[in-house]
Amino acid sequence: MATEQPIRIPARVEDLRGRHFGRLVVLAYADVRAVSGRKYHYWLCSCSCTPASRFLVRGESLRGGNTTSCGCRKREAQERGNYKHGRTGSKEHHTWSQMRQRCHNPRHPRYADWGGRGIFVCDEWRRSFPAFLRDMGEAPSPRHTIERIDNDGPYRKGNCRWAPAEEQARNTRKNRRLTFRGRTMILADWAREVGLRPDIVETRLRRGWSVEDALSVPDSGFGGSRKMRGRNGPRTTG
Ligand SMILES: [Zn+2]
Repeated sequence: MATEQPIRIPARVEDLRGRHFGRLVVLAYADVRAVSGRKYHYWLCSCSCTPASRFLVRGESLRGGNTTSCGCRKREAQERGNYKHGRTGSKEHHTWSQMRQRCHNPRHPRYADWGGRGIFVCDEWRRSFPAFLRDMGEAPSPRHTIERIDNDGPYRKGNCRWAPAEEQARNTRKNRRLTFRGRTMILADWAREVGLRPDIVETRLRRGWSVEDALSVPDSGFGGSRKMRGRNGPRTTG
């Protein structure tokens, strides 16, 4: 039965066990290998990014400072490089670009709902994607979109957050501005004024009701489907 014997460190080879080189810690001597007629001593190392990691590094690469991580340092540097250089094509960059378009390009198809309503992007964010990214951080997931906390306020630090798309849709619907009887207010305020539950008004609009019908038809308790409305017009019971 073989017992595990630590491999003996050859004489005249400096013992590196327990030494730290950057993020690496040397666990054990591994072996000596000849490469192109030269002998290299290899050490078993672990990287602090993944304490369970095990790989071999040449002693001279450790001592010479050439190898100081499992490769994680280089990956992180690359990520920082992308970050610095704009991350074009990223979720955050797309969000930034679209936000500026909606607010500041009158030819954008949805300009009326943003720029046309006086929603703007603060100067710093408008000028600088890195400033936007610095203040907002990365989107927690691809499903997150930028949301303004005060729906009538600008895009700027303190008034924006990443929100899950579903939640955002819900808030947007409640904050949706509706013009009725010559006045414009958000859906939630209209619902209160006409004495309907906001979710009923939302559902009606989603089903294709006109704003006028959605706000003036009393709640029948059925909600009313588009199909029924198409055939019979809105219910007027109540
Ligand atoms: Zn590492």
